[in-house]
Amino acid sequence: MSEQTQQRGTSGARRVVVVGAGMAGVQTAVALREQGFTGAVTVIGAEPHQPYDRPPLSKAVLLGKAEGSAFEVDFESLGIELTLGREALGVRTADRELDTESGPVAYDVLVLATGAEPVRLPGTEGVPGVHLLRTLDDAERLRPVLSRQHDIVVVGAGWIGAEFATAAREAGCAVTVVEAADRPLAGALPAEVAAPMAAWYADSGATLRTHARVVRVEPGAVVLDDGARLPAGAVVVGIGARPATDWLSGSGIELGAHGEIVADDRLRASVPDVYAVGDCASFPSARYGERLLVHHWDNALQGPRTVAANIVGEAPAVYDPVPYFWSEQFGRFVQYAGHHASADRLLWRGDPVGPAWTVCWLREDRLVALLAVGRPRDLAQGRRLIEAGTPVDREILADPARPLKEATAR
Ligand code: FAD
Repeated sequence: MSEQTQQRGTSGARRVVVVGAGMAGVQTAVALREQGFTGAVTVIGAEPHQPYDRPPLSKAVLLGKAEGSAFEVDFESLGIELTLGREALGVRTADRELDTESGPVAYDVLVLATGAEPVRLPGTEGVPGVHLLRTLDDAERLRPVLSRQHDIVVVGAGWIGAEFATAAREAGCAVTVVEAADRPLAGALPAEVAAPMAAWYADSGATLRTHARVVRVEPGAVVLDDGARLPAGAVVVGIGARPATDWLSGSGIELGAHGEIVADDRLRASVPDVYAVGDCASFPSARYGERLLVHHWDNALQGPRTVAANIVGEAPAVYDPVPYFWSEQFGRFVQYAGHHASADRLLWRGDPVGPAWTVCWLREDRLVALLAVGRPRDLAQGRRLIEAGTPVDREILADPARPLKEATAR
């Protein structure tokens, strides 16, 4: 990170331009106003729709239980200029200008909040019947697919794959989920924690095929590497997402190994007066001693407050959250807080065969992460223990009958 970036603050800015009108972009604009910023705020978003929330897309919106999920933000009364259906194509940081489809836009401060794009299954781009699930348009295309009650093949047993499979089963479709790894959520959770989740698929009537790689998609079928040919009226690909930052190549803004914008602990990018927040950016976590790239909703809500504080305020605001997310799958409410990569011990709280259980990860007798299935109170209390970073009593932690908050070692 350049020296110039380290020393500069941005208070006194007259025009903030935010690229990306998702959760992180919209929340940045709102937080700027909440924190008293009186200059111009412009949000530029590529999608034509009124800015909306993504989590309902794989839940209520997909099933037609909600029409849409537009944010309830009165942009006009907040004095936020919203420019939709306009893609940013590049940045010339020396000139402080953004290039867009319809011409340049000058800024004093630029906030990059372009989120992430789903990874495509090679060879399936433009193939009829192959779907992704990232945008409102994707969800709207998938709704009639569900109501036709096709045989559906879901590629990837990650968070999105599991949520889509849940909705498709609820809609009465025959669902097969194919996963290249040996278990669901292989990239997110260790084998012993993910193991009980595999049974959730079968309980819901979905078929989970692990160690299964897709070789090709043919009209009406998915062919696997073991020669199996799965009937597929539709295919839904949920194999991960990548920061949407291709448009920044050549801008001089540093990108990391996953294509993400490399931000510092105040969410500043590597060039002056440029910030990055949400799914498109990584940040150094002092709490966990490593750089984090978080693709979850809470990060797109909390990060913008830090960005706004650094733009508006004199004192530096540091971003070092306890990451949090939830997932609703197979009739269960799954919540996770923290980051378990550096944990040296795992403790079960409750029986994973049952409907409600929690897993706690510790490092040197401090709680660093937990996963709670159907135990929201554990999540709330555990999150506070993680934030406090004080030693915990392992016996209490492992006893599901005792509240987690009692585990603070005396
Ligand atoms: P995005 O929401 O991706 O918004 C970025 C916006 O920027 C997009 O609208 C994009 O079109 C726009 N953009 C991109 N490039 C450009 C450009 N060059 N110019 C202009 N605009 C551009 N998280 C949870 O914690 N729990 C959940 O249950 C959950 N469910 C989810 C379900 C689905 C279907 C999806 C897709 C995500 C879910 N998430 C969930 C993740 C969560 O929604 C994301 O972490 C969050 O939306 C990230 O917000 P963001 O603003 O950083 O990015």
